[in-house]
Amino acid sequence: MSNYTLGINYAKQLDKEDKLSHYRDQFHIPKDKDGNNWLYFTGNSLGLQPKATQKYIQQELEDWANFGVEGHFDAKNPWMPYHEFLTESMAKIVGAKPIEVVIMNTLTTNLHLLMVSFYQPTKTKYKIIIESDAFPSDRYAVQTQLDFHGFDANEGVIEWKPRPGEDLLNIEDLETILEEQGDEIALLLIGGVNYYTGQYLDLKKIAELGHAKNCMVGIDLAHGAGNIKPDFHDSGVDFAAWCTYKYLNSGPGSLGGIFVHEKHAHNKKLKRFSGWWSHNKETRFNMRQPLDVIPGAEGWQLSNPPILSMAAIKASLDMFNDVGMNALREKSEKLTGYFEFLINELNNDKIKIITPSNPSERGCQLSIQVKSADKNLHKKLTDAHIITDWREPDVIRCAPVPLYNTFEDVYKMVKKLKEILS
Ligand SMILES: *Cc1c(COP(=O)(O)O)cnc(C)c1O
Repeated sequence: MSNYTLGINYAKQLDKEDKLSHYRDQFHIPKDKDGNNWLYFTGNSLGLQPKATQKYIQQELEDWANFGVEGHFDAKNPWMPYHEFLTESMAKIVGAKPIEVVIMNTLTTNLHLLMVSFYQPTKTKYKIIIESDAFPSDRYAVQTQLDFHGFDANEGVIEWKPRPGEDLLNIEDLETILEEQGDEIALLLIGGVNYYTGQYLDLKKIAELGHAKNCMVGIDLAHGAGNIKPDFHDSGVDFAAWCTYKYLNSGPGSLGGIFVHEKHAHNKKLKRFSGWWSHNKETRFNMRQPLDVIPGAEGWQLSNPPILSMAAIKASLDMFNDVGMNALREKSEKLTGYFEFLINELNNDKIKIITPSNPSERGCQLSIQVKSADKNLHKKLTDAHIITDWREPDVIRCAPVPLYNTFEDVYKMVKKLKEILS
């Protein structure tokens, strides 16, 4: 896509034409000493704070002050069903039915809880496929699940790797692994958008391939939630988990979300770890009932959740609901495409964009490899208040986020990169 033009006036023109440009004003943008906005490209790591978040949290603090325990029922947004206020918007963002989604716990915790249910190895069918460049937490989670079930963690993990000399994963290679070893594989746990390369994988195809070999299929959507449209229900994947502090802007360490496909909603035979929040809401407070698990994703909850964190999530999801994922994706493709165009126009043979150039195979992140660069490059960018992620040995990850980044941000970033490199 090179129907873009060079020059700052063009960037300003694109910002003027941008129908979502007013959302930027709804965020706190960090500033330098002189009051200039940082160029913030790390929404893939920690999204910026919506200005409304403070008000949402303040509401719960006030209700706690005014009502004490009665806030569970009497608060403006009663705490008892608070998580339900988040479900519909969250479900829309990931393309799921409300019964398939709940906000609870944090990401890695949720991966474990979901594996308790969906990783049921037998003596001969016990292996787990992950991407060779899986996020460390996901790798540790599957290794310790294998170990927990009495298997050798190293032998039980099968890596889906890029081909020699390549950076991206090839779906045919997953197919080959499953053809050759499918009988020994119990689970696929794949990052829907790879955190390192930014590659967005074909979830439906992965689910089909896994299911054809009677494997369960789980997706880690940490880098996809609020970034791409995964259509979880239609994809047919069995389960998924994600965090809300990256593209969903809900604050450091905030709660995560899970998806459990409707086909498992009423299966009471699935093993799981439970708590009182897994139990039928009608009889939960009778306290002496035997466990009666709620159908659907809510049945995986254990504890009564932290309302202050949920308030921050509500602030964010209300904004997502307002803008809608279609409009967001439309801008995102244009913004990331513009970024890619400017990088390519540098014509610098040291620079290679690892992320796929096909918009349907990526979210907003571009992973830019700068051969023979070192962390000094990252430092120079940071010193200029351009916030990016550095990954050893030589990759800068940049996420122009459509809710708060501008075309001018992107223009200035590439201009500075050019300066630093020359
Ligand atoms: C960000 C991220 C995590 C972080 O997990 P937490 O449990 O929230 O600390 C895990 N996996 C992936 C793929 C991530 O991108």
